[in-house]
Amino acid sequence: MGQWFTERAARDGQRPAITFAGHTLSYADMLLQIDQLAGVLQSGGIGKGSRVAYLGFNHPMFFVALFACSKLGAIFVPLNFRLTGPEFEYILNDAGVHTLLADAEHLAVLDPVRERLVCQRYWCAHGQTSDAARWPDLAQAMACSTPVAQAVALHQDDVAAIMYTSGTTGKPKGAMLTVGNFWWNHVNELVMLDVRPDDVLLTSAPVFHIGALNVLALTNFLKGAHMVLHRSFDPAAALRDIAQYRVTTLFAVPAMLLFMTQHADFAAADTSTLRYVMCGGAPCPEPLLHLLAERGILVQQGYGLTETAAMATALSNEWSSRKIGSVGVPPLLTEVCIMDSAGQPVTVAQERGEVCVRGMNITRGYWNQAEATQAAIDGQHWFRTGDVGYFDEQGFYYICDRVKDMVITGGENVYPAEVESVLFGHPAVSEVAVIGVPDPQWGEAVVAVVALKPGAELELEALREFASLHLARYKIPKHLRIVDALPRNATGKILKYKLREG
Ligand code: AMP
Repeated sequence: MGQWFTERAARDGQRPAITFAGHTLSYADMLLQIDQLAGVLQSGGIGKGSRVAYLGFNHPMFFVALFACSKLGAIFVPLNFRLTGPEFEYILNDAGVHTLLADAEHLAVLDPVRERLVCQRYWCAHGQTSDAARWPDLAQAMACSTPVAQAVALHQDDVAAIMYTSGTTGKPKGAMLTVGNFWWNHVNELVMLDVRPDDVLLTSAPVFHIGALNVLALTNFLKGAHMVLHRSFDPAAALRDIAQYRVTTLFAVPAMLLFMTQHADFAAADTSTLRYVMCGGAPCPEPLLHLLAERGILVQQGYGLTETAAMATALSNEWSSRKIGSVGVPPLLTEVCIMDSAGQPVTVAQERGEVCVRGMNITRGYWNQAEATQAAIDGQHWFRTGDVGYFDEQGFYYICDRVKDMVITGGENVYPAEVESVLFGHPAVSEVAVIGVPDPQWGEAVVAVVALKPGAELELEALREFASLHLARYKIPKHLRIVDALPRNATGKILKYKLREG
């Protein structure tokens, strides 16, 4: 990626690469920053295989850091800025991160755990810090660095990024994405999504996540197109900038589209320049797709996971209005198979089973977790997604449910096991199960179902306050249901479907 960005900047140096907060960087400006940062990182001991983490809201520096790492062959570890100190501590130490770049707004959350981190170097990536001794200013260091222009040679199996996903067993797992995974996703997007050099892509979903990062964004740079980047999603700003910058493409999770359509400015907003919207990350309600279609906004659903770097299936432009609700078909050299409960491929249309994916875009496995890798990827290289789906008579895929116990709220995945293990530590809690219930705004809302210890009392607010010490805000239950005992089957397994019914 570092190499192709260099080649793109050599050809299209004066074209706008990224506009952020009204300020535009050309491809040449951005390449200079990439080479300067590569110089800072290299002189700090970063080389092939070293891990460099980035924590912050959306900012051009995120992409500068990603490409600088790639030039050095270092492994980029983007962090979800919604996590808490202990969650960062776990991930940074698990990945063995050598250098941590964080924006000024996130230094305070790291400070309490900093003494326990294995990181050797810290940089304030941008913004003002009052603690320059502990968080030296990256821009100053870049201005005096010796730029690194030459990218190291990489093999397609070299790991380019480790992206952490919440784990079913309680702890996040680092999906290793290789140079080949990223490269193949670009090829797929070029074939299926018709990315053009004169495109203007609006990126307002968080780029630490595979969706906003690898659906359109990197391919946009590869083609020499222009990105308008927002610090975070704001429906009014998104509607305003679509008109102001004549935005042609957009990646959004369903909750973002919902908030945009519900905003007072939606009716009058000029969205006529949008060629299409890529939507993925969670199930998209069909009425929302129809509403956007009536407005002339073409929504192409895509389906994938961090582990499939991102795209496992997508609906191409030509089919998006004819197959509303479908997540499309697999791209070139990616195979999708629906497996029945005996692990046999389903050959009949409309029959449900677990969606399995195989191909060049599949993760090499989880960082330092051979067992979890084996459980996820079988001997025939099929990656088990944990999602339930089917295909129709024309071979288009649909996602209908999840085998795994995950809740998706506002596009963020919440694994109940992780939340349950925290809530279990509350002194009033005897038993706890976490489930998702339908929520009109967020898709699903996290609910804690709790059986209390004898004589104990518990209010939602107290439980939320307790959880906030350990968990990111989006994982904290929005509702609390108190029961006498949790329903269990003969082997003692909690019957979550019963909880969802009631
Ligand atoms: P992540 O690894 O965070 O990208 O989350 C991946 C999960 O998001 C998948 O396993 C699905 O459960 C869900 N997902 C992604 N795209 C879609 C989609 N288009 N429709 C339904 N669920 C989706």
